[in-house]
Amino acid sequence: MVDLRQLAAELGYSLLVRTNCWECSCLVYLLAKPDGGFVILDDLGPDWPVHPCYQHGNRNRSYRSLHAYDPNYRVPIPANIKWNNTLRVGQRICATIVKVDGRKSILCDGKYLYRLLIRGPGRLGECIEGGIMRIGSQWGLQVIGLIECPDELLQ
Ligand SMILES: [Zn+2]
Repeated sequence: MVDLRQLAAELGYSLLVRTNCWECSCLVYLLAKPDGGFVILDDLGPDWPVHPCYQHGNRNRSYRSLHAYDPNYRVPIPANIKWNNTLRVGQRICATIVKVDGRKSILCDGKYLYRLLIRGPGRLGECIEGGIMRIGSQWGLQVIGLIECPDELLQ
């Protein structure tokens, strides 16, 4: 099963995963740093609110659950999540790359999965923002930005 801290250490960069909380199933952001730092955020941007379940819960509990997350992914995504099939050109999404599958990447925004050709930066476990586009007969994402959290957040 998934341990995001372990994956961050293995990949050597910070991961930011948009998914559901294991306790309350609200949309949250999991931040895992390669040095073992970890936090769950309610939202991105100042002042980086820590998710209440993580504040009050057991901080030592690792982000693994026997049934809540799809075991086919190394990044925790909700089990039984649906594919988005209502894409339109120009639609903005903010999602984490949860699998790289040949030329296409699978992204998750915590609500839906997307299979897209990525135009721009973004690696496994990174959260990107972009606009949906057509690339030939396929759906793609023009990356506008990589979502990064400030280094001092976990210090
Ligand atoms: Zn929660």
